[in-house]
Amino acid sequence: MATQDLATRSAEILENLTEIRSRVQQAVSSSSGSSKSATLVAVSKYKPASDIQACFTDGQIDFGENYVQELEDKAKALPTEIRWHFIGTLQSNKAKVLAAIPNLYSVQTLTSIKAATGLNKSLPPERTAPLNILIQVNTSGEDSKSGLGPLRADTKDVAAAELTQLARHIIKECPRLRLQGLMTIGALEQSLNAGNENADFERLKETRDVLIKALAEEFGVGVDKWGEHGRLLLSMGMSSDFEAALTAGSDIVRVGTGIFGTRHKK
Ligand SMILES: *Cc1c(COP(=O)(O)O)cnc(C)c1O
Repeated sequence: MATQDLATRSAEILENLTEIRSRVQQAVSSSSGSSKSATLVAVSKYKPASDIQACFTDGQIDFGENYVQELEDKAKALPTEIRWHFIGTLQSNKAKVLAAIPNLYSVQTLTSIKAATGLNKSLPPERTAPLNILIQVNTSGEDSKSGLGPLRADTKDVAAAELTQLARHIIKECPRLRLQGLMTIGALEQSLNAGNENADFERLKETRDVLIKALAEEFGVGVDKWGEHGRLLLSMGMSSDFEAALTAGSDIVRVGTGIFGTRHKK
């Protein structure tokens, strides 16, 4: 892009970013959740490195990407202070490339023991920080969404559920990973259903509460064991529903279109 176009583009993105930040702040302060802060992850898939650089210059350090190759290329080209969140479908054969990215901060879409083992094994020896892991939960039950089944207050054998088994595997067998929370996308109709309670957000909260109880019983609540002081974070809410998600108690929102505009596939 020509210099002038780039400046115009940056100004436009920064205006969007400023607006989204203030809406996040407002929703957090009116939320019922215990936390009074939330992380805004700027979802930059398909967007050029210059867009990310513009946000970074304005203090944005959390960015989300969906494709391993694209993330690897951008991580090489952009400042190492960026915290990259992987939010795409993770194939176990890509775990190694992903884990090698030095400033990979979290993987929000873990769904299998195999991928957990692969990530844990592939983190480079020189990396000291644990890799944050969120397990993806398919709260809406749609075939098009990936994720493990949710837990419910009346789930009979919580310990045997796939989600609990994966959480346990991360805690017991993957010392270089840190179980940080749960992530969901949810059904579009729930997010369009503004004003009403979002059933998928409520389901993720219930899943989190049931899982926390099971983990606390099995492992106790230690700062280094899992979560953050016995808490598990919730990553829910995108451009169309991040305010509703924050009001419902989300800790991490992932906003792409609201900051960078519509995406055009490459
Ligand atoms: C693309 C994507 C987002 C961002 O979606 P927008 O509607 O553009 O805000 C958030 N989460 C995931 C998992 C995504 O793939």
